[in-house]
Amino acid sequence: MHTETIAIHAGNLIHSATGDVTQPISLSTTFFRDENGGYPGGHMYSRVSNPNRSALEKVLTMLDKGADACAFSSGNTAGMALFQALTPGSHIIAPDDMYWGFKKQLLSIFKGILEIDFIDLTAVEGIEAYIKENTVLIWVETPSNPLLKITDIAAVSAIAKKHQLMLACDSTFASPCFQQPLLLGADIVMHSSTKYIGGHSDVLGGVLVTAVQNEFWEKIRNIQQVGGAVPSPFDCFLLLRSLKTLTYRMKGHHDNGLALAHYLENHPKIEAVYHPGLPSHPQHEIAKKQMSGYSGMLSVLVKGDGENARKVVNKVKLFAQATSLGGVESLIEHRASVEGPDTKTPQNLIRISVGLEHIDDLISDFEQALT
Ligand SMILES: *Cc1c(COP(=O)(O)O)cnc(C)c1O
Repeated sequence: MHTETIAIHAGNLIHSATGDVTQPISLSTTFFRDENGGYPGGHMYSRVSNPNRSALEKVLTMLDKGADACAFSSGNTAGMALFQALTPGSHIIAPDDMYWGFKKQLLSIFKGILEIDFIDLTAVEGIEAYIKENTVLIWVETPSNPLLKITDIAAVSAIAKKHQLMLACDSTFASPCFQQPLLLGADIVMHSSTKYIGGHSDVLGGVLVTAVQNEFWEKIRNIQQVGGAVPSPFDCFLLLRSLKTLTYRMKGHHDNGLALAHYLENHPKIEAVYHPGLPSHPQHEIAKKQMSGYSGMLSVLVKGDGENARKVVNKVKLFAQATSLGGVESLIEHRASVEGPDTKTPQNLIRISVGLEHIDDLISDFEQALT
């Protein structure tokens, strides 16, 4: 089946005798046992599993061409489950331009538990020099947040396989629609479903999808069920509802994102545009090879200093000044001031999540904000 069809049908796990066409929300936290102590409905207690979460995990598994998926209450708890499943004392290789929240998590919660090197993973030939005796995982994020760097998943996978390391990929910016890391050799793919999967800025969630069910995956499943950082049935319902339009939303984000990137690249007040779909992007060829579309994410450097960038952010009217991304409404953000004093993000960088408004209105808005 194609992505459009999977997204609409695979998540409808309907049992009811009431004739529902879409799966109802099952709020029950507990489920009947039979005389022999079994669970005829397939569920015992809703932290362990429930009908809406099972439906969500099924469709996410199929969209990323994996063997199984675990849904979590946020993207950060999805990543944390993977890091928690590693043996303490392990060394991991992570990107220098890693999602800020994960970097913070690794440097605070996993301080003294995991050893981490943050390196430039776009320089594939430099990775092997960082592999040590206790290295177990390479974590890539592509496209990366906020610099839109592209990492060659297949090339990093070859290195990981040669050294028997696990490869995980944060594929949030691409969504399951435009990039399939498991087919390129990743072992686990991670998404913040708060972003494109949810798509309407009204639900928090995260997911891990595995290529194979192995012992490590059982550890992650145990952390999900016993740790309990799970999405509610209503969250799962919202995500399933959103997934049904994912493919069509992504086509719109792709078109609008690319059009705005082209417009801004030619604007005299803009110093640089980071968008993997532009031929000027340093990893454009790799992006073309491993992605089938580019979503609505781009970052730009405004000519001048941080003040100039903040002026633009304050002057646009259709782009809401807010963090996060992937929703139907366009968002804009002065990233360095969100990340705080330790940030390496340039002060004149603004990150844009292009929504699904009409592109002419979005371009006119920038036109007036840049004059
Ligand atoms: C937002 C985001 C996360 C974290 O997800 P939350 O749902 O906010 O916890 C992780 N990675 C990337 C690339 C993100 O954009």
